[in-house]
Amino acid sequence: MTVNTQVLLKSRPAGKPSIDNFKIIETKIPDIQDGQILTRTIYLSLDPYMRGRMSDARSYAEPVPLGGVMIGGAVGIVEQSKNDRFEEGDIVVTHTGWQSHPICDGRGVRKLSPSSAPISTALGVLGMPGMTSYVGLKHIALPAEGETLVVAAATGPVGSTVGQIAKIKGCRTVGIAGGAEKCAYAKSKFGFDNCINHKSTDFADELAAACPDGIDIYWENVAGPVLETVIPHLNFFSRIPVCGLIAQYSMTELPSGRDYLPLLMRCILTNRSRVQGFIVTDYNSDFKEFVSTMTSWVENRRVVFKEHRIKGLENAPEGLLELLEGNNFGKVIVEVSRDPTI
Ligand code: NDP
Repeated sequence: MTVNTQVLLKSRPAGKPSIDNFKIIETKIPDIQDGQILTRTIYLSLDPYMRGRMSDARSYAEPVPLGGVMIGGAVGIVEQSKNDRFEEGDIVVTHTGWQSHPICDGRGVRKLSPSSAPISTALGVLGMPGMTSYVGLKHIALPAEGETLVVAAATGPVGSTVGQIAKIKGCRTVGIAGGAEKCAYAKSKFGFDNCINHKSTDFADELAAACPDGIDIYWENVAGPVLETVIPHLNFFSRIPVCGLIAQYSMTELPSGRDYLPLLMRCILTNRSRVQGFIVTDYNSDFKEFVSTMTSWVENRRVVFKEHRIKGLENAPEGLLELLEGNNFGKVIVEVSRDPTI
């Protein structure tokens, strides 16, 4: 193979992104230099944070430059190496983004052992989303036996893992998901005690009925109407790890209607709720502990996962748009090339 296919950010979206914001090009693969490796991407991860990187609004990370390769985690196989740490055939996790044959200097690249779990899990339950769930629960949510935890996007990689770890810690878990099929899956496969469809006209009543003892931990993944519905049920000393706000990511102006800020602030004060935003990389020092603990949970099937596969790098833009619309069902993985481990 002599050609590297790349998906570039062509323009910045105003509001919802579209296919026109991306451009696909092919370039000749250059010779690698000392210290570099050439990998063939096998799997590419699609994640909600990518919407943020398409924008140049101030954030915790730099935006993708216009004309730059879209950012993203990937699993690949080393095809050429001039770096002592890597050999041809190594399976690695990289941050090389949306491209088929990236070259990098090996910094931040991690070798995988294909025997311990399917290699795609390094982008999901055993990767960034799983780590997000693990550290957010450990440092902010602080789940205790008998408490009620509520999490939305309950069949996604973060929400499903949050629910399962909270269950291990003895919580009662209530998921929120978009549709009856997702809710049924959350209960039967991820072990949620209940799961409520946020698209149902009876959502507020159903959530109230599902949380008779109130909510001790609300894991914030989505914001919007889900958050508004949750607020009245928060208990004294509840914790709200603010992990994601996907309903807001493509917003261009404040929503019309009732202003919920006074209600939320009163709730935080009177309940003495603790609201804390976090970014997974704040807790990088926990990575080893996370991999070791999560690998054993996955091996023992105490934590299970669901993937939503998309075939072909050229379909990654559409895949991201679908994810942002909530049309994924599980961790979104793009199959870029053949997986030699299966
Ligand atoms: P998911 O695979 O769960 O995908 C997003 C899901 O969000 C959709 O499937 C949909 O599920 C739900 N959703 C989308 N739009 C809306 C909406 N308007 N209202 C309610 N629900 C919506 O994503 P992840 O598990 O990867 O991520 C979950 C959250 O965690 C995201 O907000 C993400 O940005 C955040 N995150 C934060 C990190 C951090 O470091 N702070 C790291 C990783 C992720 P449904 O159909 O069930 O509603």
